[in-house]
Amino acid sequence: MGEKKLSQYQETLQSIKEIAEELGYEEAEYITLLSPEREVTVSLPVTMDDGSVRVFQGYRIQDNSARGPYKGGVRYHPEVEIEEVRDLALLMSLKCSVADIPYGGAKGGITIDPRELSETELERLTRKYAEKIYPIIGAEIDIPAPDMNTNAKIMGWFKDEYSKIAGVQVPGIVTGKPVEVGGSLGRNEATGLGVSTITHAFAQNQKLVPEETRVVVQGTGNVGLITAQCLAKEGYKIIALSNVAGAVYNANGFDVSVLDLANGDQKNYDLLTAQEGSEEIPMNELLSVECDILIPAALQNQIRADNADQIKAKIVIEAANAPVSAEGEAILIKRGIKVLPDILCNAGGVVCSYFEWVQNLQHFSWTLEEVNTRLIAKMKSAFAAVLAMQAEKNCTYRQAAMLIAVDRIVKATKFKGKY
Ligand code: GLU
Repeated sequence: MGEKKLSQYQETLQSIKEIAEELGYEEAEYITLLSPEREVTVSLPVTMDDGSVRVFQGYRIQDNSARGPYKGGVRYHPEVEIEEVRDLALLMSLKCSVADIPYGGAKGGITIDPRELSETELERLTRKYAEKIYPIIGAEIDIPAPDMNTNAKIMGWFKDEYSKIAGVQVPGIVTGKPVEVGGSLGRNEATGLGVSTITHAFAQNQKLVPEETRVVVQGTGNVGLITAQCLAKEGYKIIALSNVAGAVYNANGFDVSVLDLANGDQKNYDLLTAQEGSEEIPMNELLSVECDILIPAALQNQIRADNADQIKAKIVIEAANAPVSAEGEAILIKRGIKVLPDILCNAGGVVCSYFEWVQNLQHFSWTLEEVNTRLIAKMKSAFAAVLAMQAEKNCTYRQAAMLIAVDRIVKATKFKGKY
């Protein structure tokens, strides 16, 4: 009988054990990292526009709080299930630790395809979710944020519902809000700006010249689109892009400045295919386009054991959460392809969330320039730490980031004292 395949969460736990042992820790010192501190499943009854009632399933998983309050996004997706949320919550603990911001990790989700709901239904669902997880969250306890298919508007509803129940305005309960109700300038663009900062820093480290560097981006959502635009501004050639509408290639490089998040996928896709030299390619060929840098910025588990040998990039930058599976990464590494991990590359979102939260707690807003300057500085220092660790241990970049993250969490756990 073949061995049962490990879930992504179990794979992450396995690598934490290996990393903690490499750091010389006893099991008792890192054991708290091997299970979430709290898991909550809620049922969310929502009155639909036609008067019928549907009950949705929601989760909030608080993984670890050794370094500070729980922090992490909420995703709305038909495939959300508890084991995936567990893995994403653990990744948040690691991400906040690599970025060195004073948070633990959490994640939430609702199993729903948001395109099936009208705006008013989506608002009622979000308010119900805020009400149901109210008892376990708080501005200094657990601070949700946007993730896949959630956005500033949804965070605004969430903040409003929480504040109503609390009877006071609590802007710091959630990050990624609209600027008008306490959001931070730059938050929407922060993950993409962070990804491009890391990509550019690594390209320089690898002696790549932007103008001669071909980049492929999977996804034109909040992360992929901004990443592509920031890199294009630095001179990189964006030669292929995809979103749910399709995949498109252009050997000369696209003009991505014409794209806009507000356009939606189809219009952005049409704007790309209309450019001179563009050719539509099958969706499943995007990842195997020959390039220097490949940036998966959409879903998890895109590069796996069954397609990793088809990747023709020199560098893979994980802009999505967990787009490369453990088996997929092993194949890439063997083939000499360098992989920069999600917990470093896409930390810009939560770093800016941290800045938003700090502004909320101080009731004082920063300028866009202040936000971006601090964001770039944080990303660069996390990158420098990972690079130094990689050189010291001669390990993968993911292992280097994990070594830093796990070490900081275990040290913080020790300062909490004995259980
Ligand atoms: N959802 C984003 C992430 O996975 C941001 C989380 C946050 O800002 O708390 O990193």
